[in-house]
This record gives sequence, C-alpha cells and structure tokens, in this order.
Amino acid sequence: MRRKLAAGNWKMNGVTANLSELSNMKDAADTKQTDVLICTPAPLISRASVTAEGSNIAIGGQDCHANASGAHTGDISAEMLVDAGADYVITGHSERRVDHGETDAIVAAKSSSAYANDLVAVICLGESLQERESGQTLDVIGTQLAGSTPDAATADNTVIAYEPVWAIGTGKVPTLEQIAEVHDFIRAGLTERFGDDGDGMRILYGGSVKPSNATEIFAVSNVDGALVGGASLKADDFNAIISALDVS
Ligand code: PEP
Repeated sequence: MRRKLAAGNWKMNGVTANLSELSNMKDAADTKQTDVLICTPAPLISRASVTAEGSNIAIGGQDCHANASGAHTGDISAEMLVDAGADYVITGHSERRVDHGETDAIVAAKSSSAYANDLVAVICLGESLQERESGQTLDVIGTQLAGSTPDAATADNTVIAYEPVWAIGTGKVPTLEQIAEVHDFIRAGLTERFGDDGDGMRILYGGSVKPSNATEIFAVSNVDGALVGGASLKADDFNAIISALDVS
C-alpha cells in the first residue's frame, strides 16, 4: 500500500514572512494516510524546518548539485540540504531542465547524490506541448524515466512526478484519460525495472493542480499524490488539496 504524498514546490517565491502560510498548514497536515512536503527556496529551509517542527510536514529542497563539494559557486549540495533540515529534494524539474540545461544524466547524478545523503529524490518527468501534439509523449517519458532514475532507486528513496511542461503554471490540465495513460505507463516501467520497489514508488501528478480539480485527479489510477506549485503558496489552497488527497 503506497502512502499518498501532497508535495508543494514554492519555486523562487517566499521570504521569512511567508512561513506563516507553512504554520497554517500544520493542522491540515495532521492526517492519517497522507505525507505532506513543502519544498521551499534554499535560504528558507532551516527556518521552515523549525516552523514545521512537531507536525507531519517534511521540508525539501528544489535542486542539489551532483557533487559533494567543490568549486561550484552558487550551488548547493545534498549534504547542505540535509544539514539545513531537508528530507527530500526535487530533481529534474522542467524549469531546471529548460533554464539550466539539465539532461537526464545530470538528473540521475543529482538523484544519486540525494540517495548518498539519505534524501528522498522527487524525480520530475514531462513532455512539452510540441512533444504531446506530435504523439511522442510516451517515448519522451520512457526515455526520461530510464535516464533520470538511478539503478539504486527504491520505494523509500524515490518519488516520481509526472508534470507535463505545458500544464505547469498555465491552468491547462490533461484529461483524466491522458493522466491515467502516462501514470500507468510509468508504473509498468518502474515495476519492470525495480520489481516490488517499482510497485511501491509513489507517482505524483503535477501541473495546475488546484482545490477545484484535485479530487478527480486523485481518483485516477496510479496517481499517488500531487506536486503542486502555485496552489502550495497559500495554506487555504494547499490544505484543501491535502484534504482531497486524504479522502481519495
Ligand atoms: C510545479 O511547480 O511543479 C507545478 C506543477 O506548478 P503549478 O502547480 O503551478 O502548475
């Protein structure tokens, strides 16, 4: 039985004052069957982990470097995230793939660095609109999944997030059939490669999840939760998404 996961990605949003939103999520996060995660900007991680103390909210980073240390100005290692209080890290978000040229091999190396530091890697996959419209979605997802997921992935150290690039921050959401097709495809690929661990890995849907569409998305086969951007910035919205997931 896979535990569900409501994960928020604050992206490059939030300063100390915004931690009041995190405080206001603590009661809603006190659920029986759902894990809750907020990935804050790196400078907020240590304060966020203090704010979340005593609650069911885990804190994560949004990226880490593949190397343990060295001459990489501005980068953050997995060990530094752990030291600041993180338990998870997002790897391969499409904004990192596009803005920073991250390849599948780089995403796999970052995920391996996460494992080496006992962080859970939330590995993101997703097709562009052009790839969707030209019928390449499953090929793209299959290639990203194979190339971005290290051989050492397990049900405990890895979460997969399917995020169609064209649905992120746009208000556009795939049909439930399209979500099911991709999630079932990812599950089959994970089970074939990792056996029972592949069956146990959680697969999140991400892309314009809101309180108004959460319930129907969470009812789709092999959707084990959500990775939420904009709607994770406000406690009222994210709390409603947690509740939708906890009853689904
Ligand atoms: C995301 O940042 O991963 C995301 C899915 O964003 P949004 O929910 O705003 O589309």
